[in-house]
Parts: sequence; C-alpha cells; structure tokens
Amino acid sequence: MSTKDFKFQITRHIEELSKKTPEIYKQFYPSEAEEINPPCMFEDPLIEEKYTVTKGLIHKYGNRALCMLTLVCGAYCRFCTRKRKVSDASEGLLSDEDLEKIESYIVSHPEIKEIIFSGGDPFTNPAVLKKALRKFGALPQIRVMRIGTRMPIVSPQTFDLSVCDVIRELKQPIYIGLHFEHPDEITEEVEHICQTFRKSGAILFSQSVFLKGINDDYDTLYELFSRLIEIGVKPYYIFRCDPVGGAYHFMADFEKEIDIMTRLRSSLSGMAYPMYIIDVPQGAGKIPVPLNYWDFDKAHYKDFNGIDQHIVKGIEMNDFELVPARKPIKRKISR
Ligand code: SF4
Repeated sequence: MSTKDFKFQITRHIEELSKKTPEIYKQFYPSEAEEINPPCMFEDPLIEEKYTVTKGLIHKYGNRALCMLTLVCGAYCRFCTRKRKVSDASEGLLSDEDLEKIESYIVSHPEIKEIIFSGGDPFTNPAVLKKALRKFGALPQIRVMRIGTRMPIVSPQTFDLSVCDVIRELKQPIYIGLHFEHPDEITEEVEHICQTFRKSGAILFSQSVFLKGINDDYDTLYELFSRLIEIGVKPYYIFRCDPVGGAYHFMADFEKEIDIMTRLRSSLSGMAYPMYIIDVPQGAGKIPVPLNYWDFDKAHYKDFNGIDQHIVKGIEMNDFELVPARKPIKRKISR
C-alpha cells in the first residue's frame, strides 16, 4: 500500500467535534493539499520497514521494540507517519502464530527490556491487546510496557476499559501514551477514561505533533498542556511533523515552533512542558530542538550517528489554503 491509498475514516464523535472545531476537522478530513509532495517527503520517513524483524515487530533501538498489533485506528489522522500501511485492516491482523514469532524474537534478544504496543491503535482490538500484554508481560526480561493510543480521544463513548483489569494484574509498570493535538479533544468522557486508567495503576503521558493551522500557536498549546497535566496526563513529546507523503501542508514554520516552545518554557510549569523533538527522517533518532535561550544554527543539526541533517521547511502560511474535504474514499462512523 502507498501513502496515497490511506483511507478516510472518522467516528461519530470526531464528526461532532469537527462541526465545532475546524482544527479537529482539518486533522481527519482529506484535503487537496495532500497532492503537494515535494521530493523531501517520504513514504516511510522513519525507515521502519528496514527495522521490521518479523511481521508486526520493529526493532530499531537496542533495549526496546515496537509491536504493531493492528493497522486499524478509530479515525485516521491525515498526517500519520505510518500512512503507507495504517488503515490496511487485513494486512495488519496478527495471528497467534505471528505473536509466537514476535515472542521468539524477543526471547532471542535479551537486550529488549521494553515493548511498545502501537499500530494502528491497539485499543481497536482489546482482545489482542490483552493477549499481548499477558504474553509479553510473562517474560522476565520485559520490565516496562507502553501502549500508544488515540482511541479515547476519537471514540470515548465506545472505549473499552476492560484492559484495565489486565493492567492491574501485571507486575510491570504500564505507560499509556495518549495522542492529543488540540485542547477541544479533552472532553468530559476523555477525562473519565484517564481517571479510570490512573486508578488501574497505568501511568499516562501525551504525544503531540506540531500541525500548521491546528496547534501552531502559543495559546492553543498553553491550554492543551495545562489541561493535560490537570487530567493526570504528563505532556511528554511534541514532535515536528514527519515529512511523510501527503502531509507537507501540515508542516509548520520551524522558527515559529521554536518561538512558541521558548515562550511556553517560561510560562508553563516544568511538569506541563513536553520535550520538543525532531524524529530524524531516515530513522536516526529523536533529536531535541534547542530553544531561543541559545544561538544555534536553525537550518542544520546532527542525528544520533553524528550525521548532518537539514530541516525540511514547511510551506509558508500563505502558499496554500487548506481546502474543504474532497470526496471521501471510504466512510465509516463508529457508534
Ligand atoms: S491514531 Fe496514530 S496510527 Fe492512527 S492514524 Fe492517527 S497517527 Fe496514525
């Protein structure tokens, strides 16, 4: 599958939120701007395919591995880094045999101490998620497990909290990474889910992406990070948008991002302030971006391997206006 085959799918909840908040609409509804694809954009910016060691398992960094339990999400974000394969439901299905192979790989690599369950969204298939948590949680070498999800945000009314029973059983700490982009995504239902997670013993953190016209302004991010810490979610990462095919129009101005993060550093508490990161295209690590307290070269940086990288500039605000949704490829409303 290519980034062009990425499906359109939203939930009823996102449909309702989108009517009130254009910044939520823009995240999920296709736009003609997705056709703008300069050569600096990639199908697989983080070269995850290269590090896929068996179906569903990416082992890129020594002590941790990423397990893609499914390629299905509740709603598909148009800027998704994995849009080359996410939304391909049949390809993403992991059989018991696939899970066995993943387990064998982990056992033969005792340096792996942490499993990150991702996808797609693992909470779209709670049965498989519970099975995987129990299976890998039983391995003595696994000390930490993480689950990345956007399901509480896109479909809070249908969210299955039965995974909390398994979290309570496990001896490892379970970290749940929630993907938020805008403060209007924090509804009462989302707050309730976070509270239930916390009562089960899970530790909550957030991940966000800088998105042009959606959250690339000081007030929006100030409110987002302040609200997150109030509902017990530690803001962990805000990423520069990955240069993935069809997402060029989402890339905000780099200097503007730095200015916003510099101002936020002085006004937010340290607990509410996330790390601002570039996940280096071509896969060589998550590099923290310095703030304007320092003079630094804003066009270049070095990756984890010491190799020079340059900033992929986003298009200027006036170069392109986001246009209304074109005809959906596929539409499904979750209830
Ligand atoms: S929820 Fe995550 S995996 Fe799913 S489309 Fe959005 S960014 Fe991609």
